[in-house]
Amino acid sequence: MMRRILTAGGAIVAIVAACCGLFISAAAQVTAIRAGKLIDPDSGTVLIHQTILIRDGKIEAVGSDLVIPSSATVIDLSKMTVLPGLIDCHTHLADGAHESDPISQFKKTGAQIALESVPNAQAMLESGFTTVRDVGTYRALGDIALRDAIQRGDIIGPHMFVAGAYVTISGGAGAATGLAPDITLPWDLRYGEANSPWEVRQVIRKLAHAGADHIKVLSSGAVLTHGSNPSSQEFTLEELHAAVDEASHFGLRVEAHAHSPEGIKNAIRAGVASVEHATQIDSEGIALAKQNGTYLDMDIYDEECIQEQGKLGKMPKDFLEHDAQLGQVQRENFRKAVAAGVKMSFGTDAGVCPYGTSAKQFAFMVKYGMTPMQAIQAATSSAADLLGHSNEVGSIKAGKYADVVAVAGDPLADIRLLENIQFVMKQGKIYKQ
Ligand SMILES: [Zn+2]
Repeated sequence: MMRRILTAGGAIVAIVAACCGLFISAAAQVTAIRAGKLIDPDSGTVLIHQTILIRDGKIEAVGSDLVIPSSATVIDLSKMTVLPGLIDCHTHLADGAHESDPISQFKKTGAQIALESVPNAQAMLESGFTTVRDVGTYRALGDIALRDAIQRGDIIGPHMFVAGAYVTISGGAGAATGLAPDITLPWDLRYGEANSPWEVRQVIRKLAHAGADHIKVLSSGAVLTHGSNPSSQEFTLEELHAAVDEASHFGLRVEAHAHSPEGIKNAIRAGVASVEHATQIDSEGIALAKQNGTYLDMDIYDEECIQEQGKLGKMPKDFLEHDAQLGQVQRENFRKAVAAGVKMSFGTDAGVCPYGTSAKQFAFMVKYGMTPMQAIQAATSSAADLLGHSNEVGSIKAGKYADVVAVAGDPLADIRLLENIQFVMKQGKIYKQ
């Protein structure tokens, strides 16, 4: 006897009652999605009346003339636009509940931060982001624990590719600052500090061993760090070279936080895969990024949240001073980079704005020079390329994870529709419908 059951999470399990007891198998079940419109970011085209066949969490076939097996569970999205699961390349899911001041990190235990991070991951997934590149956490290795708990199925969240910690100079953009110098921080709040090329290599060796998927270095000061100056340079070119070289020995890519023109250019010269923020990039920096194929991962929406929290009196005053004018400068530079044809990925700095609201950045990317298709590509095919995981995510193709989202209407006509994703599937399992 066999019957199919749709579980609360949407997974299909076949329950087989046999002579010797119950066997539960999630394997071999086929799901077919009927897609009215299907956005293919690889080709930048929209396909109509497609069928997506899914088996064991992966896409088996996509086409307009596929035969749907009679045993398949059919999901009808024929009145919707179907897209590959979205990817945010700049998140901080493991920093606990949303707070404007990182000093809040010192008021909580590591366990509190970890448990507060669980809903962050769920909100991210349910908003249509089935993959994130998480680029650092104050409490080192908390992101690795979060990633692994999601992979085991203990908690709900996107595929996470994590940095493990911030690799930063002491007192720098990724350091835990704002405390008196005679307060000794626990190991996990100073894990990524490095002050020479050899210390940079040492930290990266530890992170690789601990299970980091990529390395985050901080090349300039930051807006949202006490005692920091975003226009400054932090790591030297020598230290950045050491980071990229050492990471490469473990097959890891490096992303660099950089606001200042020199911090940005040093990171590109050192060979990082992406520059985060890239706020004050100048024309030489744009040319260098294009020449080197470096991605710019520019968080051009979160200024709205920084200013809003400032008005509510929730944002520390020094952060608002750091931020003065930078938001608009970044948006204008985004426009220049897009016009120059630099590779662009979608990264929001999720955690500055509330988790689950990343899609609000799409409309700003269109406002500042992208076509809607380019904005979608930044969050799908280009993001997957930046991650080095185009074989698994980024488009709806045979062999990749069945990460599928859908919206009513046409997001190419109204990009803001992506702020309200109505269907979310990750690895063949439905999380929102
Ligand atoms: Zn960030």
